[in-house]
Amino acid sequence: MVELLDRKKSANWPELIGRCVVSFILVLLTQCSQFLVPQFFFDLPVFIQLLLSALLLLAVVGVVGWCRRLLRVRASAPAFVFCSVLFVWVVYIAIVRQAATHLMDLLFNGQIILLIFGLCRMLSSDPGLVSYSPSPSDLIAQSSSSEIDTYHQDTELGDRVRCCQICKAYVKGFDHHCPAFGNCIGHKNYLLFMVLLIGFLWTEATYLVCLSQYAAQFVVPDGDGTRLEISLSRKVASSTMLFSILQLVWQVLFLLWHMYCICFNIRTDEWIHWKRYPEFQIFIQSSHGEKSSEVRFKNPYDKGVLQNLKEFMASKR
Ligand SMILES: [Zn+2]
Repeated sequence: MVELLDRKKSANWPELIGRCVVSFILVLLTQCSQFLVPQFFFDLPVFIQLLLSALLLLAVVGVVGWCRRLLRVRASAPAFVFCSVLFVWVVYIAIVRQAATHLMDLLFNGQIILLIFGLCRMLSSDPGLVSYSPSPSDLIAQSSSSEIDTYHQDTELGDRVRCCQICKAYVKGFDHHCPAFGNCIGHKNYLLFMVLLIGFLWTEATYLVCLSQYAAQFVVPDGDGTRLEISLSRKVASSTMLFSILQLVWQVLFLLWHMYCICFNIRTDEWIHWKRYPEFQIFIQSSHGEKSSEVRFKNPYDKGVLQNLKEFMASKR
């Protein structure tokens, strides 16, 4: 099968810069919304603050989405991720770093640099693009609203080649299109995707440890009745803590899902759209000899957890 790397549209720089500026503004809006929680509810339990943060995030996403549609401007999800990482790094250097131990400082800065490097690698990585020109009959199948379409089952499309509906490209071992990393996730960059996901989790966990070291210096000794003035920098650090915890929770769930997918050799796209792919369907004929039959899900690629893991590690070429 011929590898194809030029499917992506060439970059339109003015548009790209415009999207990055929109993303930068979105990051500032998001972080400002997160700042409102420690600003007005600093004395509330962390759990309640987290709940308020999550609600505010949802509200910001909703309002910003509406404004973007109204103004017809587009943002770049990878630029949003980059700017969010940089924002946390700036807060760390400006506020949190002074209280971090030398080891944690080294660890956190190293992780951020690796994360930025990994994000750049992911943006330019080949997910396993393959050339494929659908025949007219395939195109009819694609435009059909039928749940069971079989255009992916062309004999040329072995090796679990699926079509990314966003990139309009065919990817071997396609899992999903990741807007945050600006690329399809396929058999060639799935491992990098997992490493990056773990990298994000590890960096956020390290940041939370650094934050706990920073917060420890504000603990008032027992019996001391005086209440310390809560500085602006403490509130900013606290808002990034809430944001990091929310990110951590979401990413742990995401990581667990992908670990499940790897263990049982199923891809996200196949799991969601299994009715599109005949190899995942088994037809159960009704016992009374009626014409109607029930369609059930069966994963033909599942060869047991150990074998699946072995194949996953060996299938990068
Ligand atoms: Zn894609």
